[in-house]
Amino acid sequence: MSDDSLQRFATGKLASLETRKLRRTLIETGRKSEAHALRGSHELVSFACNDYLGLSQHPDVIEASCRATHDFGAGAGASRHVTGNHPLYAALERRLADLKGTEDAVVFGSGYLANVGVIPALVGSEDLIVMDEHCHSCLFAGATLARSHVLRFAHNDAAQAEALLAGHRGQHHHCLVLTEGVFSMDGDLAPLPALLASARRHDAWLMTDDAHGLGVVGDGRGSGFVDGVPLEIAVQMGTLSKAVGSYGGYVCTSRAVADLLRNRARSLIYTTGLPPGVVAAATKALEIIASDPALVAKPLANAAAFAAALKIPEPQSPIVPIVLGTPERAVQASAALEELGFLVVAIRPPTVPEGTARLRVTFSAAHSAEDIEGLAGAMTAVLARL
Ligand SMILES: *Cc1c(COP(=O)(O)O)cnc(C)c1O
Repeated sequence: MSDDSLQRFATGKLASLETRKLRRTLIETGRKSEAHALRGSHELVSFACNDYLGLSQHPDVIEASCRATHDFGAGAGASRHVTGNHPLYAALERRLADLKGTEDAVVFGSGYLANVGVIPALVGSEDLIVMDEHCHSCLFAGATLARSHVLRFAHNDAAQAEALLAGHRGQHHHCLVLTEGVFSMDGDLAPLPALLASARRHDAWLMTDDAHGLGVVGDGRGSGFVDGVPLEIAVQMGTLSKAVGSYGGYVCTSRAVADLLRNRARSLIYTTGLPPGVVAAATKALEIIASDPALVAKPLANAAAFAAALKIPEPQSPIVPIVLGTPERAVQASAALEELGFLVVAIRPPTVPEGTARLRVTFSAAHSAEDIEGLAGAMTAVLARL
């Protein structure tokens, strides 16, 4: 057969992943309720979901989604620039801009699509990108597509970012500084005030990826709002797929930058608009986030209760990593917790750096005090046996 070499290539790659305990498989997982997952007939308390507020299961959000699907159909039918810009988009972009206090917002098909579209629309081969080494894969993908000169600084090391800017900014036309607001695998906050000051000093533009900040820190407004005074971050990107409980990505920014993105971001222009039901669900969920501060405060409070029970440092977000080192240890701990009724995923390289495979525990507003005590007890037992 002419594709024999392809089959050998795929089988060889998979075997190599298998020996390093890095092969991934997709496991069918149902949702039983906000904080419970179903694997086969096994019901598990889930600490593995980014639906921090349970909004994907909220009756008002589901109702808004159903109504929009009924009124406008199941799909958008075309790119937003052709006929896919259905009337529900304007309300969603207005709501996002209001929440962040920016002039405008642009909604993309997903957070990944936002990053691979926005970065090359803002910088190119003459330009410099200075970014945190722990940035999400799609920020690196966007930087690669931009063909800019890329320099990484050690995770959350604002002093090194400043040194890189001082040493290299002058050789390039424009410069973009990239960081996550809340780091997806570490759960810590970026030193945004220091990065913003450095960016300003060197005429660089700061862009934050707040996929894990919106809805859970800064009164729900995200990582730019943690210290009381809102930070004037030029480009605030995020997703509608995590705390917002729906799907899609967004960028909150000035009117001029938003219009430039509408004209230049290929991942907005050359892809179909989001289904109406998805847009309506996100709009309803953002309305809940803006009006229910008690709900928004819960995931972090739950993470703090767990950390106190385990006597580990107080978390800055609802993401609590338990670093175990090798992929084997992380996979083994995850399997042992599953036996005890808890779903906690093992995160392995290349998602995290070599030697830092971990359990990533995420907390939701829907977890009860018993869920958290139960997990803390199970975790203590599993770690002692590892
Ligand atoms: C999940 C995630 C994304 C991608 O968002 P999607 O809407 O799921 O495509 C981007 N950046 C970070 C930091 C993320 O954690």
